[in-house]
Amino acid sequence: MTVTVRFAPSPTGHIHIGNARTALFNWLFAKKHAGRFILRFDDTDTARSKQEYADGIQRDLHWLGVRPDVTVHQSARFDTYDAAVERLKELGLLYPCWETADELERRRKIRLSRRLPPVYGREALKLTDEQKRAFDDEGRKPHWRFLLPNFKADPFAPERTEVHWDDVVRGPQTVDLASMSDPVLVREDGTYLYTLPSVVDDIELGVTHVIRGDDHVTNTGAQIALFRALAAEPPAFGHHNLLTTVSGEGLSKRTGALSIHSLAQEGIEPMAVCSLAVLIGTSESVSAVRSMDDLAERFEPSATSKSASKFDPAELQTLNRALIHAMPFEEAKDRLAALGVAGDEAEPFWLAVRGNLDRLADAASWWRIVQEGPETKPVFAAEDAAFLDVAFDNLPPEPWDRMTWKIWTDRLKELTGRKGRALFMPLRIALTGREQGPELADLLPLLGREGTLARRP
Ligand code: GLU
Repeated sequence: MTVTVRFAPSPTGHIHIGNARTALFNWLFAKKHAGRFILRFDDTDTARSKQEYADGIQRDLHWLGVRPDVTVHQSARFDTYDAAVERLKELGLLYPCWETADELERRRKIRLSRRLPPVYGREALKLTDEQKRAFDDEGRKPHWRFLLPNFKADPFAPERTEVHWDDVVRGPQTVDLASMSDPVLVREDGTYLYTLPSVVDDIELGVTHVIRGDDHVTNTGAQIALFRALAAEPPAFGHHNLLTTVSGEGLSKRTGALSIHSLAQEGIEPMAVCSLAVLIGTSESVSAVRSMDDLAERFEPSATSKSASKFDPAELQTLNRALIHAMPFEEAKDRLAALGVAGDEAEPFWLAVRGNLDRLADAASWWRIVQEGPETKPVFAAEDAAFLDVAFDNLPPEPWDRMTWKIWTDRLKELTGRKGRALFMPLRIALTGREQGPELADLLPLLGREGTLARRP
């Protein structure tokens, strides 16, 4: 069977690095097994789901390098869920309940005070037809619960019922179905909670591996029971640990600053995000991985830690610099051209400046400096101005190459006795207008003798 995975975001906000982790775990898993990747929008909550967020998620996945084979929207599949509901009702596995939230809370407290597990006691199963009719007559609508298979003959005498699975990430897992309440699948207003549509889709779309955050581990017990109730073999499951902020809070789709889109706009390279999103919280050390293929090789879901991992945005900057500093010209070429960096000099220019860049887009200002000179005309104290006069009078003859800088500065040492910073800094400022930047040995051949003379203060 072809490995089939899905990434199932609700389009209710922008995705962040934690969501990217889930998407990438699925994507790399599919890649490793020559499988299919489904993008499934969990948009049954039509009030909170927005097209603009769905569009944003598609754009962000594309930017990360994730290319879904299929995209589906749950909002277009209500008929399928309705059919599953009818089937469960016929099987007697979906039952109506009329309790209010207050009533449930009261009962929960009573159970706790009696040292009973605070789960739903299935009181609605005891309602007579007459009582149910009375609720109907009052115009009260029921919500619907799935009867978990955690009893022999008497649903009011649940027994420990273990569900086991060999988690792709966490190894062997056990959940006791007697430790949880029968999950509500359909709300009073007829809308679906996440549990049923997800299982129905996983069956219909042939999903073989459900890989998601470990906040879903308990759901998995109930979902496995639901797969079986719908006469389907459950898929394999994998639950990865979640990412938190440095101070330990969960990431939220509302924390706009850490959204994938804002990182893209800040000039972070997609592979910096992918490297961190995948390798953090695993036994692999975090480093900047150049390509998705290389990352797939390093990806080993079972090497993921079981506790939450702290995500430090500063680490992204470090990875980003590492990627840019080693980026071959061929890889940067088109993006540089879009910044106006093109022609024969583009490649030597890139090789000269990349080691100094935090973001690829910063190449544009260095290109202007090399082509046109300092952004603002530098001003020098009298002593430095006198030194620069000597320097510009003693430029080596052409042709110029990487050795020219050394030849020139060795000569200036002899002539002026200057050395170290006193020698280099006025030259750097005269040539570039900045105190820091690429190696002058690399820049000089790009400026040429004529270009250098044009910078004479
Ligand atoms: N929409 C669910 C979520 O974002 C999907 C969970 C799953 O992958 O099953 O949590």
